[in-house]
Amino acid sequence: MCFRDLTTIRVGGPIRTLVTATTSAELVRAVREADAAGTPMLLLGGGSNLLVGDEGFDGTVVRIATTGLEVHDTRIRVDAGVEWDLVVRTALDHGLAGPEALSGIPGTAGGTPVQDVGAYGTSTSEWLETVTILDRQTGEVEVWDNARCGFGSHRSSAFKYTDRYVVVDVTFRFQRSEMSAPVRYAALAERLGVRIGDSVSAREVRDAVVALRTDRGMVWDVAVQDSWSVGSFFLNPIVESVPTDALGSPQFTDPKGIKLSAAWLIEHAGFHRGYGAHFGRGTATLSTRHVLAITNRGDATAADVVALASHVRAGVREKYGITLTPECRLVNCSLD
Ligand SMILES: Cc1cc2nc3c(=O)[nH]c(=O)nc-3n(C[C@H](O)[C@H](O)[C@H](O)COP(=O)(O)OP(=O)(O)OC[C@H]3O[C@@H](n4cnc5c(N)ncnc54)[C@H](O)[C@@H]3O)c2cc1C
Repeated sequence: MCFRDLTTIRVGGPIRTLVTATTSAELVRAVREADAAGTPMLLLGGGSNLLVGDEGFDGTVVRIATTGLEVHDTRIRVDAGVEWDLVVRTALDHGLAGPEALSGIPGTAGGTPVQDVGAYGTSTSEWLETVTILDRQTGEVEVWDNARCGFGSHRSSAFKYTDRYVVVDVTFRFQRSEMSAPVRYAALAERLGVRIGDSVSAREVRDAVVALRTDRGMVWDVAVQDSWSVGSFFLNPIVESVPTDALGSPQFTDPKGIKLSAAWLIEHAGFHRGYGAHFGRGTATLSTRHVLAITNRGDATAADVVALASHVRAGVREKYGITLTPECRLVNCSLD
């Protein structure tokens, strides 16, 4: 089995040993066994935020395919392997509002705390109450509340940039309401024909978000090449001062500085939608709908994706002096 069969960008080489965990007990056991044997181990959820090199992974990949889901009043407890969008659909089916603006995001519920998955002005950490984790350093299984998870700016969390923790299950707490949480994102408000801060039916918000995401190639679909990606490839950079050439770009305040739009920087550095058809083998290009997604046009390798990402990053650095950081996890590959 190769990563190209298990990731949304459909690149990446062979896996030495693949273990599929279908219960939380199996997940904990598989990780403990790999750790006891001293085998390199990589967790795999939906593979939607992972770029693995063409040589693959010489160790054990634990694929999280756990399925438990329980609804208790306004709380939904899910095993890590449950599809995130199923959590959203279940919430709406039970008259719970909150996650509707996070509709259509690929991947697992267990993957959401890792990079505090977010879109359209909200993120999963707003709704996360507790998370059960396996600490690979101590071997203990613990329940952490939201405050302990280290959610902060720039999609940060205690689980990012470390392999120490395994998310085993997550409990979300939503609001009992047929009406959505206040709409916070201009493009979404425009689509719904409302003002920022307004609430409409939560189902209407879900439908509008899915439509917007589909327009942008941000709903994963095997039949849509623009969605063969990891979503946004780069994070929006946070800078201390805005470069003169970027003074006209969208700017957002952030506790750590000024957040700029990576998409704006990429576009204004000369990389248009679909860019890449004449770069390298032409098999990896920017999405034809969104410059922030790097897409596999059919037979790209991880090396093709890395070459294009490095080229785009160098172009942005040359024009603005800003080095973009990948949002996805890179394994056995790196940008120049
Ligand atoms: C078309 C498309 C659109 C996207 N849109 C968005 C978006 O709008 N907003 C957004 O934030 N993201 C978006 N993404 C990125 C992606 O959907 C999220 O990052 C998602 O949460 C990844 O979950 P996953 O299960 O696929 O994780 P994987 O890709 O399988 O893993 C990602 C990382 O998390 C680790 N990991 C996975 N599961 C666990 C676990 N249970 N415990 C500990 N570590 C774990 C893995 O080891 C790896 O390091 C998009 C991706 C695609 C392809």
